[in-house]
Amino acid sequence: MDTNGSAAKGLSEHYPPLSANEALVEAHRCLYCYDAPCTHACPTHIDIPRFIKKIATANLPGSAKTILEANLLGATCARVCPVEELCEGACVLGADHKPIMIGRLQRHAMDHCQHPSDLVRKEPSTGRSVAVIGSGPAGLSCAGELTRRGHSVTVFEKRELAGGLSTYGIIAIREPVETALAEAAMIEALGVHIETGAELGRNLDLREMQSRFDAVFLSVGLGATPAMGIPGEELIVDGLAYIEQSKLNGGAMNIGRRVVIIGAGNTAIDCATIAKRLGAEHVTMIYRRSAEEMTAYPHEVEFIRKEGVEFCFLTQPVRIVSENGVAAGVGCVRMTLGATDGSGRRVPYPVDRTEFTIFADQVVKAVGQEKPTLAVRLGLAVDKGYIQVNSELETNLLGVFAGGDCIRAKNAASTVMAVQDGKLAAAAIHRRIAGKVEA
Ligand SMILES: Cc1cc2nc3c(=O)[nH]c(=O)nc-3n(C[C@H](O)[C@H](O)[C@H](O)COP(=O)(O)OP(=O)(O)OC[C@H]3O[C@@H](n4cnc5c(N)ncnc54)[C@H](O)[C@@H]3O)c2cc1C
Ligand code: SF4
Repeated sequence: MDTNGSAAKGLSEHYPPLSANEALVEAHRCLYCYDAPCTHACPTHIDIPRFIKKIATANLPGSAKTILEANLLGATCARVCPVEELCEGACVLGADHKPIMIGRLQRHAMDHCQHPSDLVRKEPSTGRSVAVIGSGPAGLSCAGELTRRGHSVTVFEKRELAGGLSTYGIIAIREPVETALAEAAMIEALGVHIETGAELGRNLDLREMQSRFDAVFLSVGLGATPAMGIPGEELIVDGLAYIEQSKLNGGAMNIGRRVVIIGAGNTAIDCATIAKRLGAEHVTMIYRRSAEEMTAYPHEVEFIRKEGVEFCFLTQPVRIVSENGVAAGVGCVRMTLGATDGSGRRVPYPVDRTEFTIFADQVVKAVGQEKPTLAVRLGLAVDKGYIQVNSELETNLLGVFAGGDCIRAKNAASTVMAVQDGKLAAAAIHRRIAGKVEA
């Protein structure tokens, strides 16, 4: 694997960096609101007017410091956060003018910061130690926050590279692999030890972790793409692997001429973008419900339509058509929508005698991720398949905490929510192991 990243050509960052002048002009547009709604809308509560004011006064290290005080993964969040739904969606200038480009200003501050770890103040060593399992946004955030408080932290990561989905799963036009790895390196520079190739349940044992460390934080994310159980499924390309290949291995990958993407969530949109940008002539996304039930963000749907991707709604794949052992199309049936289910979405039903084929030489499956199977294997209580935690983010095992996608039984999973879980869990772990109550 090419660990230097280098995403495939055509997948460079969608938004270019702001120039110094553009950033200054944009920062001066901010009203520096009192009790700013943008800060309330940020799950990690970054003091947005404060960091923007520092950009306006050409104090970029000070700006980055303000961001890092609330969110150690400020460089990633600046790129991947759905700002339209969060801070920028809440900006008071959004109603009559254009909202402030908060995400791009945050990226400007973070990208101009040479040694971000130097900006983070650390407490003296407490002699306490914590094991963090998984190095995605939740794990790195928790590890960094605990290190700030003087605890010794080791992150155990099963893969070769740190960063979780920021490294392997988020399309390079939003976050290049170099950004994710630099951020993991910044957490290491704070004093966190990251051990890769270490997998809980394979070469790591939870009981041993509990006896070696004062607390354990589980941030293992979700599992693989679930099976669809249709004939010919082995000929389908896995959507997460498709994105991973486009980010790593120097971008070398096989792209079909006619590509069908099964699914219509954010992962499916990323797969469709990759196919289109890397040379596919036709890309069709098929979804068993209608446009109204799509889980992707509206701005993502608009983006993918502009890329020239077509949608085939109310369509359920029932088999993969093959020729000489390779995928040649998807056999589908038409669907109709019935009453709403527990999630408030209308349930799709197949319509009799409506089978048809969409011809394709590459079929990609992007239908979400499995629940964290590790939970049951470790004997943890679960809620709808996700690890169950109390208000302190502690599981049913004393001293074992959890956060990020693996606990997200409600609401959409996102990087910033995982970062905030890591922060909250670090505070709870600190209260437990240092015996202190935070102000
Ligand atoms: C394709 C895709 C695109 C996305 N795009 C966006 C986006 O644009 N914006 C956004 O906000 N969110 C996005 N998300 C969601 C976001 O990536 C996640 O919410 C976030 O990464 C969750 O962080 P986490 O730390 O909980 O889990 P992860 O990032 O999944 O990290 C979990 C880590 O734990 C490791 N691990 C797992 N099991 C073990 C084990 N047994 N032992 C040791 N290590 C283990 C994994 O290898 C991984 O490194 C996207 C998700 C996907 C799938
Ligand atoms: S709401 Fe908009 S104008 Fe007000 S502080 Fe936030 S970014 Fe600035």
